[in-house]
Amino acid sequence: MSLRDLYQEVILDHNQSPRNYGELEPCTIRRDGDNPLCGDNIILYLIIEDEKVVDIKFKGEGCAITMASSSMMTEVIIGKKIEEVEEIFEKFHSMLTEDEGDYEDLGKLKVFEGVKEFPARVKCATLSWHTMNNAIKEME
Ligand code: ZN
Repeated sequence: MSLRDLYQEVILDHNQSPRNYGELEPCTIRRDGDNPLCGDNIILYLIIEDEKVVDIKFKGEGCAITMASSSMMTEVIIGKKIEEVEEIFEKFHSMLTEDEGDYEDLGKLKVFEGVKEFPARVKCATLSWHTMNNAIKEME
């Protein structure tokens, strides 16, 4: 199995069984994210305590990339400090929008690296991340 096939499989798996899917009420912040170009629409629910993401869930409808990216984002940022989350966001965003770099420490999020070749889908892969980042900024 090639690396590309493996990545494809991870994305399909998260799309079929998204992790942390559902609502979280009450929560600290709830935020909607829209990507009209593709028709992706998600809602994020975050519980933040002591500058830390204690819990996160998401809900909504979107293409496989949006769903997988949201699902994996929740897995990655749960339990992390806000400042770590911001760093991961910056790095993930650069991986999809900038030139070659070293993104090894993004771990499994590297499955989205190939999306860069499809500019129209970059918004799908980053939708939940931008939504989460806006939510965090709103708190500051
Ligand atoms: Zn999409």
